[in-house]
Amino acid sequence: EMRFLTPRMAALRRLGQCPSTGILISQLHTSSRASAKQHYKMLVLGGGSGGITMSARMKRMMGAENVAVVEPSEMHYYQPIWTLVGAGAKTVASSGRPTASVMPSGVKWVKSKVQEINPDTNTVRTDDGTEISYEYLIVGLGLQLHYEKIKGLPEGFEHPKIGSNYSVQTVEKTWKALQNFKEGNAVFTFPNTPVKCAGAPQKIMYLSDAFLRKTGKREKAKVIYNTSLPVLFGVKKYADSLWDVVKCRDLQVNLRQNLIEVRADKQEAVFENLDKPGETKVFEYEMLHVTPPMGPHLVLKGSPLADEAGWLDLNKDTLQHNKYPNVFGIGDCANLPTAKTAAAVDRLKLMLGQPLETFPINQAKERRLMYHLKADMMPHLYWHGLLRGLWGGPGPYRKVFHLGMK
Ligand SMILES: Cc1cc2nc3c(=O)[nH]c(=O)nc-3n(C[C@H](O)[C@H](O)[C@H](O)COP(=O)(O)OP(=O)(O)OC[C@H]3O[C@@H](n4cnc5c(N)ncnc54)[C@H](O)[C@@H]3O)c2cc1C
Repeated sequence: EMRFLTPRMAALRRLGQCPSTGILISQLHTSSRASAKQHYKMLVLGGGSGGITMSARMKRMMGAENVAVVEPSEMHYYQPIWTLVGAGAKTVASSGRPTASVMPSGVKWVKSKVQEINPDTNTVRTDDGTEISYEYLIVGLGLQLHYEKIKGLPEGFEHPKIGSNYSVQTVEKTWKALQNFKEGNAVFTFPNTPVKCAGAPQKIMYLSDAFLRKTGKREKAKVIYNTSLPVLFGVKKYADSLWDVVKCRDLQVNLRQNLIEVRADKQEAVFENLDKPGETKVFEYEMLHVTPPMGPHLVLKGSPLADEAGWLDLNKDTLQHNKYPNVFGIGDCANLPTAKTAAAVDRLKLMLGQPLETFPINQAKERRLMYHLKADMMPHLYWHGLLRGLWGGPGPYRKVFHLGMK
């Protein structure tokens, strides 16, 4: 079987050169595919927050031997903590653990990339040519970051003074830029696409502002938030409070400004006015934090599982696919009207427009408690509760904290 071969042997076999098989090259393609074929009752695509959580639950439901997860990455990251890594409050190392350590024991880890999804034949194909068939499929592929849609990126990240909390490769550059800040503009962006964790592009601005104040540099800094959105935040209740915060901290907010180019060698960022297409404005920066354009995974977008926009087409109540009843989905890849957050992965109640709050305090107000919650309590709940499929999501917590009144 393919999985028992060393990577080199597997590669040789694919190339038709494996001496031990003695099969004619003309036959080898089909024969290696046939030998590599696998079947699982429950196949999970993606071993991120959603995929690992669901595989733990499915293991309990149908036994570990019936569950497989396709995930190429050696490391699993708790992404929400990257906000604090960018602000120097946590290390990037603390955000990751080996995928092997979070994979539920006994569940098969297929360490490759899904390349093709064929729900009509109940099969997927991975990048090493393996075909895997399934009875049930859970798609948890997350979303794709598109730094390359901004002219001058990603190569601009080679230069200093620019960072992005959205990727493990660039999150430490945010902290470096903040640490080395002397004087000038600190510019923060929000793209013209759906994003995961819509609060993160602003949170790093508030943390940077606090750091600059603490280090006595705030007087020499102009802090600017350039967002593609026509509002400061999608939920009005929070937007109202945030407008108070930005006013009180002297943060400049420019609406409908979309980052289209970074000239990192000159420390210039170019924004397009979305209300006046073609009109651009150049901002010099001493620090730039980029939130990249995002979109559905290309593998998903090119499959029959996608809606017109390319997201996984799910029933929002059952998380079941609208056309293929044996396909389900979880997390950022789905076309659900929920925020793209890890919280939404677990039975999502944070509907945009009508947030249900977990804590019996006004979350729209800044609270020190909320910081400790994010820095210390949530990571613990994530690694030990959510990923193990043991945490029922904020729902029960909300009940406890509201003493059963909500
Ligand atoms: C800076 C930042 C701050 C955030 N803050 C918060 C927060 O405060 N609160 C909150 O709730 N959420 C937050 N989030 C969002 C949260 O991390 C995501 O919503 C959550 O991780 C989504 O889980 P997922 O399983 O859908 O996707 P992911 O966890 O991203 O997992 C997707 C997985 O699919 C794998 N994959 C990709 N391509 C393939 C392929 N071809 N084949 C197989 N596997 C593949 C990837 O390697 C990855 O492991 C934040 C995110 C960021 C980046």
